[in-house]
Amino acid sequence: MDFKLTPEQEALRKEFEGYAEELMKDAPPGWETSMEFQYSDEGWEFTKRTHERLAEKGWLVRHWPREYGGMNAPIVEQLIYSEAMGYHRVPAGDIISVGMIGPTLLAIGSEEQKQEHLPPIARAEIYWCQGWSEPNAGSDLACLVTRGVRVGDKYVVNGQKTWTSNAHHADWCFMLARTNPEEKRSRGLSFLLVDMKTHGITIRPLCGMEGSHLFNEVYFDDVHVPVENRVGEENDGWRVTRATMNFERSGANSFAGVRRSLDDLIAACREIEWYDKTLADNPLIRHRLAQLSMEIEAGRALAHRIAWSQEKGEFLQAAHLASASKVYASELSQRFSSIACQVFGLYS
Ligand SMILES: Cc1cc2nc3c(=O)[nH]c(=O)nc-3n(C[C@H](O)[C@H](O)[C@H](O)COP(=O)(O)OP(=O)(O)OC[C@H]3O[C@@H](n4cnc5c(N)ncnc54)[C@H](O)[C@@H]3O)c2cc1C
Repeated sequence: MDFKLTPEQEALRKEFEGYAEELMKDAPPGWETSMEFQYSDEGWEFTKRTHERLAEKGWLVRHWPREYGGMNAPIVEQLIYSEAMGYHRVPAGDIISVGMIGPTLLAIGSEEQKQEHLPPIARAEIYWCQGWSEPNAGSDLACLVTRGVRVGDKYVVNGQKTWTSNAHHADWCFMLARTNPEEKRSRGLSFLLVDMKTHGITIRPLCGMEGSHLFNEVYFDDVHVPVENRVGEENDGWRVTRATMNFERSGANSFAGVRRSLDDLIAACREIEWYDKTLADNPLIRHRLAQLSMEIEAGRALAHRIAWSQEKGEFLQAAHLASASKVYASELSQRFSSIACQVFGLYS
Protein backbone atom coordinates (compact mmCIF):
# COMPACT_ATOMS: atom_id res chain seq x y z
CA MET A 1 0.00 0.00 0.00
CA ASP A 2 0.99 3.61 -0.58
CA PHE A 3 1.00 5.76 2.57
CA LYS A 4 1.44 9.04 0.70
CA LEU A 5 -1.56 11.35 0.47
CA THR A 6 -2.60 12.64 -2.95
CA PRO A 7 -2.34 16.44 -3.43
CA GLU A 8 -6.13 16.70 -2.98
CA GLN A 9 -6.01 14.71 0.24
CA GLU A 10 -3.08 16.80 1.46
CA ALA A 11 -5.11 19.98 0.82
CA LEU A 12 -8.03 18.47 2.71
CA ARG A 13 -5.74 17.61 5.64
CA LYS A 14 -4.62 21.23 5.81
CA GLU A 15 -8.23 22.42 5.72
CA PHE A 16 -9.19 20.04 8.56
CA GLU A 17 -6.14 21.06 10.61
CA GLY A 18 -6.87 24.76 10.13
CA TYR A 19 -10.49 24.43 11.20
CA ALA A 20 -9.53 22.19 14.14
CA GLU A 21 -7.20 24.92 15.42
CA GLU A 22 -9.94 27.49 15.02
CA LEU A 23 -12.48 25.36 16.88
CA MET A 24 -10.11 24.85 19.78
CA LYS A 25 -9.69 28.60 20.24
CA ASP A 26 -13.15 28.47 21.85
CA ALA A 27 -12.28 25.58 24.16
CA PRO A 28 -12.89 26.63 27.75
CA PRO A 29 -9.87 26.62 30.07
CA GLY A 30 -9.41 23.15 31.51
CA TRP A 31 -10.77 21.34 28.47
CA GLU A 32 -7.43 19.89 27.38
CA THR A 33 -6.17 18.87 30.79
CA SER A 34 -9.14 17.75 32.84
CA MET A 35 -11.39 14.82 32.06
CA GLU A 36 -13.55 15.95 34.97
CA PHE A 37 -14.04 19.26 33.17
CA GLN A 38 -14.87 17.60 29.84
CA TYR A 39 -17.83 15.89 31.44
CA SER A 40 -18.98 18.97 33.37
CA ASP A 41 -21.96 21.01 32.13
CA GLU A 42 -19.58 23.61 30.63
CA GLY A 43 -17.51 20.90 28.93
CA TRP A 44 -20.62 19.29 27.47
CA GLU A 45 -21.81 22.66 26.13
CA PHE A 46 -18.49 23.07 24.28
CA THR A 47 -18.74 19.52 22.93
CA LYS A 48 -22.25 20.14 21.61
CA ARG A 49 -21.38 23.53 20.13
CA THR A 50 -18.38 22.01 18.36
CA HIS A 51 -20.49 19.18 16.94
CA GLU A 52 -22.99 21.74 15.64
CA ARG A 53 -20.25 23.74 13.93
CA LEU A 54 -18.84 20.60 12.32
CA ALA A 55 -22.33 19.57 11.27
CA GLU A 56 -22.91 22.97 9.63
CA LYS A 57 -19.87 22.31 7.45
CA GLY A 58 -21.24 18.84 6.66
CA TRP A 59 -18.19 17.20 8.21
CA LEU A 60 -19.71 15.33 11.12
CA VAL A 61 -20.68 12.37 8.92
CA ARG A 62 -18.84 13.12 5.67
CA HIS A 63 -18.57 9.39 4.90
CA TRP A 64 -22.35 8.75 5.12
CA PRO A 65 -24.57 8.71 2.02
CA ARG A 66 -25.96 12.09 1.00
CA GLU A 67 -29.59 11.11 1.53
CA TYR A 68 -28.94 10.74 5.26
CA GLY A 69 -26.91 13.92 5.74
CA GLY A 70 -23.44 12.79 4.63
CA MET A 71 -21.21 13.68 1.68
CA ASN A 72 -20.48 10.20 0.32
CA ALA A 73 -16.81 10.87 1.12
CA PRO A 74 -14.24 8.07 0.77
CA ILE A 75 -13.21 6.31 3.99
CA VAL A 76 -9.61 7.52 3.62
CA GLU A 77 -10.85 11.12 3.82
CA GLN A 78 -12.66 10.24 7.03
CA LEU A 79 -9.38 8.87 8.38
CA ILE A 80 -7.60 12.12 7.55
CA TYR A 81 -10.40 14.02 9.30
CA SER A 82 -10.14 11.77 12.39
CA GLU A 83 -6.38 12.24 12.56
CA ALA A 84 -6.60 16.03 12.31
CA MET A 85 -9.34 16.30 14.94
CA GLY A 86 -7.65 13.74 17.21
CA TYR A 87 -4.34 15.61 17.12
CA HIS A 88 -6.00 18.90 18.07
CA ARG A 89 -8.20 17.25 20.73
CA VAL A 90 -11.39 18.43 19.05
CA PRO A 91 -14.58 16.62 20.12
CA ALA A 92 -15.16 15.67 16.49
CA GLY A 93 -18.33 13.63 16.67
CA ASP A 94 -20.17 11.66 19.30
CA ILE A 95 -18.71 8.16 19.21
CA ILE A 96 -21.99 6.53 20.25
CA SER A 97 -24.29 8.41 17.85
CA VAL A 98 -21.99 8.98 14.86
CA GLY A 99 -19.67 6.02 15.44
CA MET A 100 -22.01 3.25 16.58
CA ILE A 101 -25.77 3.56 16.07
CA GLY A 102 -25.46 5.55 12.82
CA PRO A 103 -23.40 2.90 10.99
CA THR A 104 -25.56 0.13 12.49
CA LEU A 105 -28.74 1.68 11.11
CA LEU A 106 -27.07 2.33 7.77
CA ALA A 107 -26.14 -1.35 7.54
CA ILE A 108 -29.23 -3.03 8.99
CA GLY A 109 -31.92 -0.46 9.91
CA SER A 110 -35.24 -0.24 8.08
CA GLU A 111 -35.71 2.68 5.70
CA GLU A 112 -38.08 4.31 8.22
CA GLN A 113 -35.48 3.99 10.98
CA LYS A 114 -32.80 5.52 8.75
CA GLN A 115 -35.05 8.42 7.76
CA GLU A 116 -36.10 9.07 11.34
CA HIS A 117 -32.75 8.83 13.10
CA LEU A 118 -29.82 9.48 10.74
CA PRO A 119 -30.47 13.09 9.61
CA PRO A 120 -30.84 14.39 13.22
CA ILE A 121 -27.53 12.68 14.11
CA ALA A 122 -25.89 14.28 11.05
CA ARG A 123 -27.19 17.68 12.23
CA ALA A 124 -25.92 17.05 15.79
CA GLU A 125 -29.44 17.49 17.11
CA ILE A 126 -29.81 14.27 19.06
CA TYR A 127 -27.56 12.09 21.20
CA TRP A 128 -27.65 8.39 21.88
CA CYS A 129 -26.45 6.14 24.67
CA GLN A 130 -25.52 2.47 24.56
CA GLY A 131 -27.46 0.12 26.84
CA TRP A 132 -25.44 -3.07 26.71
CA SER A 133 -23.47 -3.66 29.95
CA GLU A 134 -25.28 -4.91 33.02
CA PRO A 135 -24.12 -5.51 36.59
CA ASN A 136 -23.37 -9.16 35.73
CA ALA A 137 -22.71 -8.84 32.00
CA GLY A 138 -19.60 -6.93 30.94
CA SER A 139 -16.81 -8.68 29.03
CA ASP A 140 -19.22 -11.60 28.77
CA LEU A 141 -22.06 -9.48 27.39
CA ALA A 142 -23.99 -12.48 26.06
CA CYS A 143 -25.13 -13.42 29.58
CA LEU A 144 -27.25 -10.26 29.91
CA VAL A 145 -30.65 -10.71 31.57
CA THR A 146 -32.70 -7.55 30.87
CA ARG A 147 -35.99 -8.89 29.52
CA GLY A 148 -38.07 -7.71 26.60
CA VAL A 149 -41.47 -9.44 26.57
CA ARG A 150 -43.52 -9.12 23.41
CA VAL A 151 -47.06 -7.94 24.15
CA GLY A 152 -48.97 -7.22 20.93
CA ASP A 153 -47.19 -4.50 18.99
CA LYS A 154 -44.68 -3.60 21.71
CA TYR A 155 -41.98 -5.03 23.96
CA VAL A 156 -42.26 -4.53 27.71
CA VAL A 157 -38.69 -4.08 28.96
CA ASN A 158 -37.54 -4.72 32.53
CA GLY A 159 -33.96 -4.73 33.83
CA GLN A 160 -30.89 -2.68 34.62
CA LYS A 161 -28.03 -1.39 32.51
CA THR A 162 -24.81 0.03 33.90
CA TRP A 163 -21.78 2.12 32.84
CA THR A 164 -24.15 3.83 30.40
CA SER A 165 -22.02 6.73 29.16
CA ASN A 166 -23.84 10.01 28.73
CA ALA A 167 -27.31 8.54 29.41
CA HIS A 168 -28.13 11.74 31.32
CA HIS A 169 -27.68 13.76 28.09
CA ALA A 170 -29.05 11.18 25.66
CA ASP A 171 -32.31 11.48 23.75
CA TRP A 172 -32.31 7.83 22.67
CA CYS A 173 -30.77 4.54 23.78
CA PHE A 174 -29.96 1.47 21.71
CA MET A 175 -30.08 -1.59 23.85
CA LEU A 176 -29.98 -5.35 23.92
CA ALA A 177 -32.79 -7.21 25.67
CA ARG A 178 -33.44 -10.92 26.04
CA THR A 179 -36.60 -11.58 24.05
CA ASN A 180 -36.38 -15.38 24.14
CA PRO A 181 -35.29 -16.71 27.55
CA GLU A 182 -35.37 -20.31 26.21
CA GLU A 183 -32.39 -19.53 24.00
CA LYS A 184 -28.90 -19.45 25.45
CA ARG A 185 -26.31 -16.67 25.43
CA SER A 186 -26.06 -14.59 22.26
CA ARG A 187 -29.14 -16.25 20.76
CA GLY A 188 -32.47 -14.87 21.95
CA LEU A 189 -31.41 -11.21 22.15
CA SER A 190 -33.06 -8.33 20.28
CA PHE A 191 -31.69 -4.89 19.43
CA LEU A 192 -34.12 -2.14 20.45
CA LEU A 193 -34.22 1.64 20.04
CA VAL A 194 -35.68 3.33 23.09
CA ASP A 195 -36.76 6.95 23.47
CA MET A 196 -35.20 8.04 26.79
CA LYS A 197 -38.34 10.03 27.64
CA THR A 198 -40.40 6.82 27.79
CA HIS A 199 -42.25 6.26 31.05
CA GLY A 200 -40.46 3.78 33.36
CA ILE A 201 -36.84 4.81 32.68
CA THR A 202 -34.79 5.99 35.68
CA ILE A 203 -31.23 7.30 35.32
CA ARG A 204 -28.84 7.38 38.29
CA PRO A 205 -25.35 8.91 38.08
CA LEU A 206 -22.24 6.76 38.68
CA CYS A 207 -19.56 9.35 39.39
CA GLY A 208 -15.83 8.79 38.95
CA MET A 209 -13.32 9.06 41.81
CA GLU A 210 -12.38 12.56 40.66
CA GLY A 211 -16.04 13.60 40.63
CA SER A 212 -16.74 13.41 36.89
CA HIS A 213 -20.17 12.34 35.74
CA LEU A 214 -19.91 10.24 32.59
CA PHE A 215 -21.40 6.92 33.62
CA ASN A 216 -24.90 6.09 34.75
CA GLU A 217 -27.07 3.24 35.83
CA VAL A 218 -30.27 3.02 33.80
CA TYR A 219 -33.30 1.16 35.16
CA PHE A 220 -36.14 -0.08 32.97
CA ASP A 221 -39.42 -0.71 34.74
CA ASP A 222 -42.19 -1.87 32.41
CA VAL A 223 -40.87 0.33 29.60
CA HIS A 224 -42.98 0.02 26.46
CA VAL A 225 -40.99 -0.10 23.20
CA PRO A 226 -42.89 -0.26 19.88
CA VAL A 227 -42.03 -3.32 17.78
CA GLU A 228 -41.08 -1.05 14.87
CA ASN A 229 -38.18 0.18 17.07
CA ARG A 230 -36.48 -3.22 16.80
CA VAL A 231 -33.49 -3.29 14.45
CA GLY A 232 -33.14 -6.54 12.52
CA GLU A 233 -35.13 -9.66 13.28
CA GLU A 234 -36.42 -10.66 16.70
CA ASN A 235 -33.78 -12.67 18.62
CA ASP A 236 -31.12 -11.70 16.06
CA GLY A 237 -29.78 -8.73 18.02
CA TRP A 238 -26.28 -10.14 18.38
CA ARG A 239 -25.74 -10.00 14.64
CA VAL A 240 -26.95 -6.39 14.63
CA THR A 241 -24.40 -5.44 17.31
CA ARG A 242 -21.66 -6.60 15.00
CA ALA A 243 -22.84 -4.58 12.01
CA THR A 244 -20.74 -1.46 12.43
CA MET A 245 -17.69 -2.78 10.62
CA ASN A 246 -18.26 -1.04 7.30
CA PHE A 247 -17.40 2.44 8.51
CA GLU A 248 -14.23 4.12 9.60
CA ARG A 249 -13.23 2.62 12.95
CA SER A 250 -9.51 2.43 12.56
CA GLY A 251 -8.59 4.22 15.80
CA ALA A 252 -6.76 6.90 13.78
CA ASN A 253 -7.93 9.65 16.16
CA SER A 254 -6.57 7.75 19.20
CA PHE A 255 -3.10 7.43 17.67
CA ALA A 256 -3.14 11.09 16.63
CA GLY A 257 -4.16 12.01 20.19
CA VAL A 258 -1.24 10.10 21.71
CA ARG A 259 1.08 11.70 19.13
CA ARG A 260 -0.08 15.12 20.34
CA SER A 261 0.49 14.12 23.96
CA LEU A 262 3.97 12.90 23.06
CA ASP A 263 4.75 16.19 21.28
CA ASP A 264 3.66 18.03 24.44
CA LEU A 265 5.78 15.73 26.60
CA ILE A 266 8.84 16.26 24.38
CA ALA A 267 8.35 20.04 24.53
CA ALA A 268 8.24 19.85 28.34
CA CYS A 269 11.37 17.66 28.41
CA ARG A 270 13.21 20.29 26.36
CA GLU A 271 12.35 22.94 28.97
CA ILE A 272 12.65 21.20 32.31
CA GLU A 273 16.18 21.16 33.73
CA TRP A 274 17.64 18.49 35.95
CA TYR A 275 21.25 18.67 37.18
CA ASP A 276 22.10 21.49 34.70
CA LYS A 277 20.77 19.64 31.70
CA THR A 278 17.29 19.41 30.23
CA LEU A 279 15.33 16.18 30.61
CA ALA A 280 15.59 15.84 26.82
CA ASP A 281 19.37 15.48 27.19
CA ASN A 282 18.98 12.42 29.36
CA PRO A 283 19.68 9.31 27.22
CA LEU A 284 17.31 7.14 29.20
CA ILE A 285 14.44 9.57 28.67
CA ARG A 286 15.34 10.06 25.01
CA HIS A 287 15.24 6.30 24.55
CA ARG A 288 11.76 6.04 26.13
CA LEU A 289 10.39 8.92 24.04
CA ALA A 290 11.81 7.38 20.87
CA GLN A 291 10.25 4.02 21.75
CA LEU A 292 6.84 5.70 22.20
CA SER A 293 7.24 7.52 18.91
CA MET A 294 7.87 4.25 17.08
CA GLU A 295 4.89 2.60 18.72
CA ILE A 296 2.61 5.50 17.74
CA GLU A 297 3.87 5.25 14.16
CA ALA A 298 3.13 1.51 14.13
CA GLY A 299 -0.41 2.27 15.36
CA ARG A 300 -0.86 4.90 12.67
CA ALA A 301 0.25 2.42 10.02
CA LEU A 302 -2.29 -0.07 11.35
CA ALA A 303 -5.05 2.58 11.16
CA HIS A 304 -4.13 3.41 7.56
CA ARG A 305 -4.14 -0.26 6.66
CA ILE A 306 -7.66 -0.63 8.08
CA ALA A 307 -9.00 2.31 6.04
CA TRP A 308 -7.24 0.93 2.96
CA SER A 309 -8.81 -2.53 3.49
CA GLN A 310 -12.24 -0.94 3.98
CA GLU A 311 -11.94 1.01 0.77
CA LYS A 312 -11.08 -2.17 -1.08
CA GLY A 313 -14.22 -3.79 0.39
CA GLU A 314 -12.33 -6.19 2.68
CA PHE A 315 -14.71 -5.54 5.56
CA LEU A 316 -14.11 -8.75 7.49
CA GLN A 317 -10.35 -8.28 7.37
CA ALA A 318 -10.81 -4.63 8.42
CA ALA A 319 -13.04 -5.68 11.33
CA HIS A 320 -10.36 -8.04 12.70
CA LEU A 321 -7.72 -5.35 12.36
CA ALA A 322 -10.01 -2.77 14.00
CA SER A 323 -10.26 -4.97 17.11
CA ALA A 324 -6.46 -5.25 17.16
CA SER A 325 -6.17 -1.48 16.74
CA LYS A 326 -8.56 -0.86 19.65
CA VAL A 327 -6.51 -3.04 22.03
CA TYR A 328 -3.22 -1.64 20.76
CA ALA A 329 -4.41 1.98 21.14
CA SER A 330 -5.70 1.36 24.68
CA GLU A 331 -2.44 -0.27 25.78
CA LEU A 332 -0.37 2.39 24.05
CA SER A 333 -2.21 5.14 25.99
CA GLN A 334 -1.44 3.31 29.22
CA ARG A 335 2.25 2.95 28.29
CA PHE A 336 2.34 6.64 27.39
CA SER A 337 0.83 7.64 30.75
CA SER A 338 3.17 5.34 32.62
CA ILE A 339 6.27 6.77 30.91
CA ALA A 340 5.04 10.36 31.35
CA CYS A 341 4.62 9.64 35.08
CA GLN A 342 8.16 8.25 35.26
CA VAL A 343 9.57 11.27 33.44
CA PHE A 344 7.84 13.83 35.66
CA GLY A 345 8.36 11.89 38.87
CA LEU A 346 6.39 13.12 41.85
CA TYR A 347 5.10 16.14 39.88
CA SER A 348 3.07 13.77 37.68
C1 LIG B 1 -14.88 4.51 29.32
C2 LIG B 1 -15.94 3.43 29.31
C3 LIG B 1 -17.19 3.70 28.77
C4 LIG B 1 -18.17 2.71 28.76
N1 LIG B 1 -19.40 3.02 28.24
C5 LIG B 1 -20.35 2.08 28.18
C6 LIG B 1 -21.62 2.37 27.61
O1 LIG B 1 -21.89 3.51 27.19
N2 LIG B 1 -22.55 1.40 27.55
C7 LIG B 1 -22.30 0.14 27.99
O2 LIG B 1 -23.18 -0.71 27.84
N3 LIG B 1 -21.11 -0.18 28.57
C8 LIG B 1 -20.13 0.76 28.68
N4 LIG B 1 -18.92 0.47 29.27
C9 LIG B 1 -18.77 -0.80 29.91
C10 LIG B 1 -17.81 -1.73 29.25
O3 LIG B 1 -18.28 -2.17 28.03
C11 LIG B 1 -17.55 -2.85 30.26
O4 LIG B 1 -16.87 -2.23 31.31
C12 LIG B 1 -16.77 -3.93 29.68
O5 LIG B 1 -17.58 -4.71 28.86
C13 LIG B 1 -16.14 -4.79 30.80
O6 LIG B 1 -17.12 -5.26 31.68
P1 LIG B 1 -16.97 -5.13 33.27
O7 LIG B 1 -16.60 -3.71 33.60
O8 LIG B 1 -18.19 -5.70 33.91
O9 LIG B 1 -15.70 -5.99 33.65
P2 LIG B 1 -15.57 -7.62 33.79
O10 LIG B 1 -16.24 -8.23 32.61
O11 LIG B 1 -16.16 -7.93 35.14
O12 LIG B 1 -14.06 -7.78 33.76
C14 LIG B 1 -13.23 -7.47 34.88
C15 LIG B 1 -11.83 -8.02 34.62
O13 LIG B 1 -11.89 -9.46 34.45
C16 LIG B 1 -11.28 -9.82 33.21
N5 LIG B 1 -12.03 -10.95 32.64
C17 LIG B 1 -13.34 -10.99 32.35
N6 LIG B 1 -13.67 -12.20 31.86
C18 LIG B 1 -12.56 -12.94 31.87
C19 LIG B 1 -12.26 -14.29 31.48
N7 LIG B 1 -13.21 -15.12 31.02
N8 LIG B 1 -11.01 -14.72 31.60
C20 LIG B 1 -10.04 -13.90 32.10
N9 LIG B 1 -10.25 -12.63 32.47
C21 LIG B 1 -11.50 -12.15 32.36
C22 LIG B 1 -11.39 -8.61 32.32
O14 LIG B 1 -10.36 -8.60 31.33
C23 LIG B 1 -11.19 -7.48 33.33
O15 LIG B 1 -9.82 -7.25 33.59
C24 LIG B 1 -17.91 1.44 29.30
C25 LIG B 1 -16.65 1.18 29.85
C26 LIG B 1 -15.68 2.15 29.86
C27 LIG B 1 -14.35 1.83 30.48
